[in-house]
Amino acid sequence: MIHLEKADPRVHRAVLGEEARQRGQLEMIASENFVSEAVREAMGTVLTHKYAEGVPGRRYYGGCEFADAVEDLARTRAKRLFGAAHANVQPHSGAQANMAAYFGFLDPGDTIVGMNLSHGGHLTHGSPVNFSGRLFRVAAYGVRSSDGLVDFDLVRDTVRRVRPKLIMTGASAYPRILDFAAFGEIAREAGAVHVVDLAHVAGLVAAGVHPSPVPHADIVTTTTHKTLRGPRGGLVLCRAEHARLIDRMVFPFTQGGPLMHVIAAKAVALGEALSPNFRDYGRAVVANARTLAGTLMERGVKLVSGGTDTHLVLVDLLGRDLTGKDAEQALERAGITVNKNTVPGETRSPFVTSGLRIGTPALTSRGMGEAEMRRIGGWIADILERPGDEGLGEEIRRRTTELCSRFPLFAAPPRASSA
Ligand SMILES: *Cc1c(COP(=O)(O)O)cnc(C)c1O
Repeated sequence: MIHLEKADPRVHRAVLGEEARQRGQLEMIASENFVSEAVREAMGTVLTHKYAEGVPGRRYYGGCEFADAVEDLARTRAKRLFGAAHANVQPHSGAQANMAAYFGFLDPGDTIVGMNLSHGGHLTHGSPVNFSGRLFRVAAYGVRSSDGLVDFDLVRDTVRRVRPKLIMTGASAYPRILDFAAFGEIAREAGAVHVVDLAHVAGLVAAGVHPSPVPHADIVTTTTHKTLRGPRGGLVLCRAEHARLIDRMVFPFTQGGPLMHVIAAKAVALGEALSPNFRDYGRAVVANARTLAGTLMERGVKLVSGGTDTHLVLVDLLGRDLTGKDAEQALERAGITVNKNTVPGETRSPFVTSGLRIGTPALTSRGMGEAEMRRIGGWIADILERPGDEGLGEEIRRRTTELCSRFPLFAAPPRASSA
């Protein structure tokens, strides 16, 4: 970053600070990950200069030869990776991918059914502080308090009662596999469009360690930066019959020109996800989460649903004096970065919460395995037992720093396939 350092030392310093922070702490925010250096390089290319409104072969600007090339690679790889007939790789984010999906089928005032935010749903699934909750009528389903799993009787009853035009399946904080086939069946019975938001588990589906929603959904949206380990962004997959509609909903309905440098990075990441290495990565992410869950539970830490099938665990602090906010801060002081999270039956505000969401994708990208998860799980349990013990925090901070130094960032970039 020699140019940046000269031109703008303050921004340069902040970037270096962030890099040091990422290198020196245990990143366990379930929605975060580390991309390969190839993905990062693609994001820093001259493709950022290019306006390429439209889709490959049908652009509104000249000079799109190379923009077409990268976008075609990204689209082809996305389709192959997920077994979908059509892909649009232009959404700037997961939220924008969802917006495109909604507006393909809904008018303001129409009814949708989605998962309750405090039970693991996402803001874009009908929260009143999001466009989805403002523009559409929303009925939410949730999980059973007895076992923390989706209550399909409640889903069916809700759908029969409100007759939604669209059912949104997917979550940001659900540690178990969602039964996409069951949701698809309910949507078909109700004549509703079925959208699956795969943001969190897309990488697990790509790796073959989580069932695919593609056969059970009309539309699949996802982010590219979570378990999929690509640049920040979104994409939409759909059946051929909806291809033109989805393309129009991304541009010109919800977005202007695509971020071609990010699309190039998506192409690289999707190529990496097609390589056999990525299957190993996905398996390791899930094995690490299981080991972490087991270690925490052995130490008496309560988990929503009693474990995990995915890349994350949800710690349940309901009824304890310790809040999610205080636990998050105590772990941060010890070099472990997680986020506070609401849990089913939440009694505190979203700024305080009674839970923690802890994920393994980023540490797995760093090369950590089950032995490391057992150590880290032990440290987390120690801190949750004695969150106010400063000496303990400092001791664990020393150990997390030492562990990070043995697993450098960008150690083994995965090789892209030639797809
Ligand atoms: C992260 C997430 C999104 C939003 O992605 P952004 O890129 O932050 O807009 C949407 N849906 C779900 C389920 C998510 O977890």
